[in-house]
Amino acid sequence: MYIVFIGPPGAGKGTQCRRLVEYLRIPHLSTGDMLRQAQQQKTELGRVATTYMEQGKLVPDHLILEIVRLRLQQDDCDEGCLFDGFPRTREQATALESDLASRNGGLNLALELRVDEAELIERVSRRAQTEHRDDDAAATLQERLRVYRSQTAPILDFYRKRGNLASVNGLGTPDEVFQRIRHEVDSRRNGQGNGQGNTPT
Ligand code: AMP
Repeated sequence: MYIVFIGPPGAGKGTQCRRLVEYLRIPHLSTGDMLRQAQQQKTELGRVATTYMEQGKLVPDHLILEIVRLRLQQDDCDEGCLFDGFPRTREQATALESDLASRNGGLNLALELRVDEAELIERVSRRAQTEHRDDDAAATLQERLRVYRSQTAPILDFYRKRGNLASVNGLGTPDEVFQRIRHEVDSRRNGQGNGQGNTPT
């Protein structure tokens, strides 16, 4: 199964993605993790990406598409994978669609994790204190939310029109949220998806 996971900063994507890949036993492709790894290894990509990440802006599409394509070529992605934090723009979504067209029936599901902004701001500032993530600094959070609204949220419509979108309520305990996600995934796996996208549950 090929799944994309979409949600604003602080929605709990990381936690839920880890649970989902364990459940489905598919590779986890997090572009944020790939970029942070490149930063740690001090590669050219890491250096360029840092200038965008520090400001809460998106790294240019061509760089992201290059790292995703390289990763997709590896054998473990032949049957499926979970994309976490990708695609984040319409261009990335369109490129992914053509990259997956010849694979295993293409994209199976786009999962949106919905959390309102007041809750997001509180969660992200809590995480900034415990994980010391530079990009979580309060100054960049507003920018990351703005970028999400303007550049990433429009791809929800892209997937809704294709009948791939399932929106899941991200409020509640991690167990409660995962139950909702599992429900969506299981219904698609068993071929029961309604093909119309779902309203938040
Ligand atoms: P994340 O860990 O997914 O929140 O990503 C951290 C940061 O990496 C983002 O704020 C962006 O600057 C950058 N990034 C991650 N994924 C992408 C993507 N698909 N397109 C552009 N920039 C990205």
